[in-house]
Parts: sequence; structure tokens; C-alpha cells
Amino acid sequence: MSYVIAEPCIGTKDTACVDACPVDCIHPKKDESKYEASEMIFIDPIECIDCGACVPVCPVSAIFAKDDLPEKWNQFEPRNDVYYLVDALEQKFGAVPDAVRQRAEASTVEAINAWRARVPKAATMDEVFR
Ligand code: SF4
Ligand code: SF4
Repeated sequence: MSYVIAEPCIGTKDTACVDACPVDCIHPKKDESKYEASEMIFIDPIECIDCGACVPVCPVSAIFAKDDLPEKWNQFEPRNDVYYLVDALEQKFGAVPDAVRQRAEASTVEAINAWRARVPKAATMDEVFR
């Protein structure tokens, strides 16, 4: 399991949760290049230790344990995970085509995180999605 940031973060994005997280798994932070362009921030599903420390500091109650995520915001679970897949792809291969991003956004959480796990050993972006 991990925690998930949902729709209420959009338009607030104050990063109060970033400062509360003991394992630095919420990004982009204010001093990171993607912060300005990102409409919200995201929790890394692999690094999150499920401590819940970020939940009470959020001024708009945007953070949920996956099992408690309101159904209307279900798509925010894959959306959090896609941010970290795309980030891993960009760090290794450079710019990620829109088609790749769209494919990831339409996929299951399991597929997204399986692709992410392949990134370190992949020689090309195609190899990640093979
Ligand atoms: S639950 Fe804990 S580890 Fe996970 S994002 Fe929140 S503060 Fe960080
Ligand atoms: S504390 Fe809440 S609103 Fe602020 S950045 Fe984190 S999730 Fe978004």
C-alpha cells in the first residue's frame, strides 16, 4: 500500500506534506524544476512507508491511504504512480513522448509500477514497455 494525493491538492500545492514526510517521497518539491509546471504533487508508491504523517498537515484533506481513497478520485492512484514512472524514464532516456505518457495514464497501477521497475536495466524506452 502507499498513500495517494488526490484532486484537492490541485490549486493548493503548498507542499506542507513534503516537510512532514520522513522519507522524502513527495515530489516535485518547490526547489525542483517540475514544481511550477505541475498542477499538483505526488507520492512515490515505492518509497512511501505508510506512516500517515502527511495526512494531518494537508490543509485541504487531499491525502488518503489507498484503501480509503474516495471512489470519485480513483484515477489519482495511477496518476501518482505515472509521475514517478515518467520521472524515471526522463532521467534515463530524456524527453518522454506524449504517446508514452498517455499509454501509462490509461494503464493499471500494476502495469505502471512493473514498467518503472524495468527502467534501471532497460537499454531503450521501448524495452521498458515490451
Ligand atoms: S504516508 Fe508517510 S511516507 Fe508516505 S508520503 Fe505520507 S509522510 Fe511520506
Ligand atoms: S499538503 Fe495537501 S495541498 Fe499541500 S501539497 Fe501536500 S497534498 Fe497538496
